[in-house]
Amino acid sequence: MITQSLSNGQPLPLIDQPSSRWQEEMRTVIRQPAELLQLLQLDPGLLPAAEQAARLFPLRVPRPYLQRMQPGNPQDPLLLQVLPLGLELQSVPGFASDPLEEANSNPLPGLIHKYASRVLLIANGACAINCRYCFRRHFPYEDNNPSRAEWQPILDYIQAHPEVNEVILSGGDPLANSDSRLAALITALEALPQLSRLRIHSRLPVVIPSRVTPELVQILGQSRLKVVLVSHINHPQEIDAEVCTQLSKLRQAGVHLLNQAVLLKGINDQLSTQVALAEALFAADILPYYLFVLDNVAGAAHFAISDSQAEQLHLQLQQKLPGFLVAKLAREVPGRPHKTLLPSSPWLSP
Ligand code: SF4
Repeated sequence: MITQSLSNGQPLPLIDQPSSRWQEEMRTVIRQPAELLQLLQLDPGLLPAAEQAARLFPLRVPRPYLQRMQPGNPQDPLLLQVLPLGLELQSVPGFASDPLEEANSNPLPGLIHKYASRVLLIANGACAINCRYCFRRHFPYEDNNPSRAEWQPILDYIQAHPEVNEVILSGGDPLANSDSRLAALITALEALPQLSRLRIHSRLPVVIPSRVTPELVQILGQSRLKVVLVSHINHPQEIDAEVCTQLSKLRQAGVHLLNQAVLLKGINDQLSTQVALAEALFAADILPYYLFVLDNVAGAAHFAISDSQAEQLHLQLQQKLPGFLVAKLAREVPGRPHKTLLPSSPWLSP
């Protein structure tokens, strides 16, 4: 039996036997800050704070993702997304454990219903990687991790809401499920005639590209539902040749590839980085979809940039790129039944 832990560190029993390469890579993620620092030849002085912060939100770094980091560089943009810092321990006014107030839209364990035509299903509480800015870093996965037996009430709920035509598989990471469990879930959803789309939000094909197994390609490619995979890529350095190769298999199978990113201070808040990200995404057949300002989750305040900086950056992006490569700049406002777009800064003639 392979065991994983939930994104918040709680153990979760999984999955199929025998394990495939991606499952082995899930099992052997780096969990100890000391190992991370040693592998990247970084200052051991970072260790005490990293260990302290990792006790609040565990460290998880897949080895294929680590290989894209630059050894000896404490400012590496991929490292900064995963390295626990003492700054996370600071309590900052306005930053909360449930910044999107998802507890108010959680009618059943594992089901979040905020938008009229879509519901979100927490299909797995585990993640391959723990992103320090994650808005669900305090999420109660232990109460929202439905077993197969608990899928039926969710299916009944969807049937009772005929206006719902799209299910979003989220997590954690929905692709942390075995292919057989994922296939069973998708088959159950396909049996609901009201559904026309299936959306999957996942970091796994990027951080562990071997997750794109032939079985996964077949499951998604053969679904009667239109399948959209939303990758969560924040920096062009996350996209290497293997990521492109693996994602192209999904694209060729008919899966629509979109990307959403989070604007993160010191990581991707420069124009050149955002331009490079858009170009790298398109080269990998992925369309930029959303660029989110940070959700105000406790422990992540050091990643925030101001709205005016974000709006200025977005205006500059529009001046640099064709419109189809400019992601919509948005935030999620608790209680609103839609994303909220931020305006671009007014154009000022030089
Ligand atoms: S951002 Fe996604 S992959 Fe990262 S910790 Fe959160 S749920 Fe997991």
